Amino acid sequence: MDGFGRTHRDLRVSVTDRCNLRCTYCMPEDGLEWTDRAQLLSFEEIERVARLCVERLGVRSIRLTGGEPTVRADLTSLVGRLSPLVDDLALTTNGTRLRDLADPLARAGLRRVNISLDTLRPDRFLRMTRRDAFDSVLDGIRAAVAVGLDPVKINCVVVRGVNDDEVVDLVRFGRDVGATVRFIEFMPLDASGAWDRDAVVSLDEIVERVNGAFPVRPVVRGDAPADRFRFVDGRGEFGVIPSVTNAFCDRCDRIRLSADGELRNCLFAVDGTDLRSLLRSGADDEALELAIRSCVAAKWAGHGIGRVDFIRPPRSMSQIGG
Ligand code: SAM
Ligand code: SF4
Repeated sequence: MDGFGRTHRDLRVSVTDRCNLRCTYCMPEDGLEWTDRAQLLSFEEIERVARLCVERLGVRSIRLTGGEPTVRADLTSLVGRLSPLVDDLALTTNGTRLRDLADPLARAGLRRVNISLDTLRPDRFLRMTRRDAFDSVLDGIRAAVAVGLDPVKINCVVVRGVNDDEVVDLVRFGRDVGATVRFIEFMPLDASGAWDRDAVVSLDEIVERVNGAFPVRPVVRGDAPADRFRFVDGRGEFGVIPSVTNAFCDRCDRIRLSADGELRNCLFAVDGTDLRSLLRSGADDEALELAIRSCVAAKWAGHGIGRVDFIRPPRSMSQIGG
């Protein structure tokens, strides 16, 4: 599916906007107004859109996300429906429920997992997520590695003055546990509107800190959004997703389906295409395909964070599907 001369191969499907954590950079303390169950796409509807994207539009990888995808009942059966469609079926999760779910998800066809962990200090975890779930996340990471999900990546949002003193510790932890750490620059997608340019810890700063402890060499940047760095001692790599300081908009091949069935051509899109109404009004595959193609074709050149005309999207990262 083409937009700006690129084929969009990566479909991100949010299965719920609910979450069992309240990360300060993502959600307000009281949570958000959750989407009504009836408004959520059913597994049948998700499968139909995914199949169409794969069979007609060139999508090659599907990532399940949220909100927290593991709080949606019977996620394993959705994985079972989607796994025959693509070789690359992945999950982005906060890890709290993986202790029990890693094995059934892997058996249902999940290939890889990205687990969010921003700190290795239990007290800080409690402050950053407003929930006491640190041990379950660590258990979840170990379970994911143990059942052979590969790679296991640890996603870490770095916020200045909050957890930027742990960059090296997190890399050490990833090397020890057998996971690849990927740092994400803090983006203006927090529902509370607290984002501030000064809170962003840049790619350069992160690399400098890691390189001081574990010397690295850059890996030539391909189409992936992360800038990758290999450890000189041969023990793996780490990455940074520099969405703010070195945006990858010109190479982005992602398209997102929200839990309530809106297709979005960018994380920062201010509106989306309502596929749910089409699905529920009996639209045929041609009509759906046309709607998806039009959405991708309307993609803008870049998000423009930092420009005076940048518009903050009205939805938070958890509602769009990270
Ligand atoms: N709940 C799952 C999780 O935490 O991995 C999936 C959804 S979450 C919205 C997806 C990713 O977005 C997580 O890695 C999270 O850390 C990241 N994220 C959330 N808010 C962000 C923000 N304001 N800036 C950058 N990344 C953010
Ligand atoms: Fe929940 Fe993920 Fe947002 Fe944290 S980042 S509040 S775990 S959706």
